[in-house]
Amino acid sequence: MDVQRRYESIFCIVDYHAITAPYDPADLRLRTRDLAVSLLAAGIDPDTAILFAQSSVPEHTELAWIFNTVTAVGELERQTQFKDKSQRQESVLAGVLNYPILQAADILLYRADTVPVGEDQVQHLELSREIARRWNARFASPDAPYFPEPAALLTPTRRIMGLDGQAKMSKSLGNTIGVVEPPASVWEKLRPAVTDPNRVRKSDPGTPEVCNIYHLHRAFNSPAIVDDVATRCRSAGWGCIDCKRVLFEGIETALAPIRARAEELTAQPKIVDEVLGDGANQASAIARTTMAEVKSLMGLRVYGSHTAGL
Ligand code: SF4
Repeated sequence: MDVQRRYESIFCIVDYHAITAPYDPADLRLRTRDLAVSLLAAGIDPDTAILFAQSSVPEHTELAWIFNTVTAVGELERQTQFKDKSQRQESVLAGVLNYPILQAADILLYRADTVPVGEDQVQHLELSREIARRWNARFASPDAPYFPEPAALLTPTRRIMGLDGQAKMSKSLGNTIGVVEPPASVWEKLRPAVTDPNRVRKSDPGTPEVCNIYHLHRAFNSPAIVDDVATRCRSAGWGCIDCKRVLFEGIETALAPIRARAEELTAQPKIVDEVLGDGANQASAIARTTMAEVKSLMGLRVYGSHTAGL
């Protein structure tokens, strides 16, 4: 959360992206607020950064439509995430294919130049850069590109795989650890999690780099503990269950204060809704200005009173 001190930051709960998979409306309503609670508990400071829900700012989908007109279908079909998802589904929704276009709109609506992402999102971000380039080439002056080409700000642990060791952490795959998940449930998931397949017996030396548990240690524990984990793994100095216990302690140290803060916020839903309301108002002010300028550059005439005050 240190990113919000270094950059002018906007955090968006992407509920329009969430509806590209089957869902229950009542559950979505709860999940949106729950996610806001988790983000605030984890350290997003609404006095420093903007936090809002995507569907509260309709300009996201408006700009996405515009970007649809400068993006080729083939580029969307080549996205790895689309290929993965479409293989798992019999009938693929257009929203799954167009997801990266909405993502480009989420970023470029605020003319953001930096996006903190995991490694799996780099390809989508490259498409956002391409969309910005193409739109600029068509509608902006060559000397003054309107949209910046956003750069990736990669986190130190670039890719966290799910506990199944097969795919990245994803709620829909059920291989995640939740930020506010109770300790017993975290341990229940951690205990059977996949490790180095070559460590069949405790006496078999392992290769930490191929083990997802080791990479989770890097995310939650100090460099000294991480070094110790690697040494013990390579020398078969301990069993995987011992290694997981140390990881569990690291996760608990990180998550216990977040869980406590989340409990306080859950008991005060009005405060959370106010934060999301203020955030939506601040985001809307930026978004409306961008859309007015984009429409003007594209030759789209706007009639009516909703543009008053811009
Ligand atoms: Fe993974 Fe730890 Fe087991 Fe090594 S000892 S294989 S790092 S769980």
